[in-house]
Amino acid sequence: MREGVKMEPASDSNLDVPLKGTERDSQLLLFPFPGEPKKVEETKEVIPPLWRKVSEREWDDWRWQLRHRITTYEQLREILELTPEEIEGIKHSKGRLALAVTPYFASLMDPNNPNCPIRRQAIPRIEEIHLSKNEMVDPLGEDKHSPVPGLVHRYPDRVLLLVTDQCAVYCRYCTRRRLVGSNERSITQGNFEEVLKYLKSHRKVRDVLLSGGDPLLLENERLEEMLSRLRVLPHIELLRIGTRVPVTLPQRITGGLVRMLKKYHPLMISIHFTHPKEITEAVRRACIELADGGIPLGSQTVLLKGINDKPSIMKRLVQELLKIRVRPYYIYQCDLAMGTEHFRTSVATGIQIIEKLRGYTTGYAVPTYVIDAPGGGGKIPLQPDYVVSRGKGKTVLRNYEGKIFEYAEPNIIEFKKTRSTGEEKVVPKKVRA
Ligand code: SF4
Repeated sequence: MREGVKMEPASDSNLDVPLKGTERDSQLLLFPFPGEPKKVEETKEVIPPLWRKVSEREWDDWRWQLRHRITTYEQLREILELTPEEIEGIKHSKGRLALAVTPYFASLMDPNNPNCPIRRQAIPRIEEIHLSKNEMVDPLGEDKHSPVPGLVHRYPDRVLLLVTDQCAVYCRYCTRRRLVGSNERSITQGNFEEVLKYLKSHRKVRDVLLSGGDPLLLENERLEEMLSRLRVLPHIELLRIGTRVPVTLPQRITGGLVRMLKKYHPLMISIHFTHPKEITEAVRRACIELADGGIPLGSQTVLLKGINDKPSIMKRLVQELLKIRVRPYYIYQCDLAMGTEHFRTSVATGIQIIEKLRGYTTGYAVPTYVIDAPGGGGKIPLQPDYVVSRGKGKTVLRNYEGKIFEYAEPNIIEFKKTRSTGEEKVVPKKVRA
């Protein structure tokens, strides 16, 4: 600091000092006065007449929501104007993938618009019966990496533990459609003991991801039993939960659940979000409650044709996620699961979305776009190519606006020791690129 210049702490009083002319303009740019709060479009639950007599207490009770899931054509017909494509899809969904929608998630659907993004995700359509030759029953090759029932061990240091086959809502593009919804059961005690035995003898495993189905559909006591028994294994550093419940059944995120989860830190949660329309006041409350429990939250989004395959929709989603303290983490290319070809976009679409996010919004809001390699090769990241050329001593790059920049690679400087007038010195010997 220069002598004679005194710095004052910023306080209400010194910020209130009126500034003259230009001084005030620059101050305003850096520290604008709070104006009118920006109006944000918010999705509202519109409770269909079927549930208008339900008390608020029941509606907010996750068990009530689960018990009253819509599972039949007759119930759906009462809340939606079904199209012939949907009616046929519902008829043919038996034996393919269960149909279930919580009243809460159904209340976000547009009853008159079959292209409503919430509706497209959860209501079967006739396109599901088309099976492409590229599709697979087990697109990620999980079954062949399952040493004991319920456990997938594909990477050296982490495992996937499938604790239940039940979900609050069955997504029509589900990768694990071969497993989910068939029995709506959780892992048996016997199988869980087998899993623990396996983990005790595989001490390189440091990270366990609980998934399913949806682990947050287990009762707190059951989930806690699993977390606590995993947590005492000394080599398990990290516990993770993959869930869609904060989106499809936000009522499940209760104070009791968060108090239980926070006992098992470090614990992280990945939440499956698909569209900005999913971010309601109830979802906001659920995510804030989890974040206040010290749980890092990341989002995983499947890229879906006609639902979220536009840069403007993804941008809105990732920006809204940051506002509810969820870090956009992955955009997944839709896997080659049976009957999902109508949901798949080209790979170029995914890359274009990242191109339209990077540089145009906060870096924290830009997820990694990945393809989970068919057959089980793991996640492969994809992004636009920002390297124009690599030459001797320099790399030519383009930025998000297409402007070209050169980055000079560092030279290697070698030094040598010399002695002059009896004193030892170190001087540069040569510089090479
Ligand atoms: S919540 Fe996940 S596991 Fe369940 S149906 Fe949807 S994608 Fe599949």
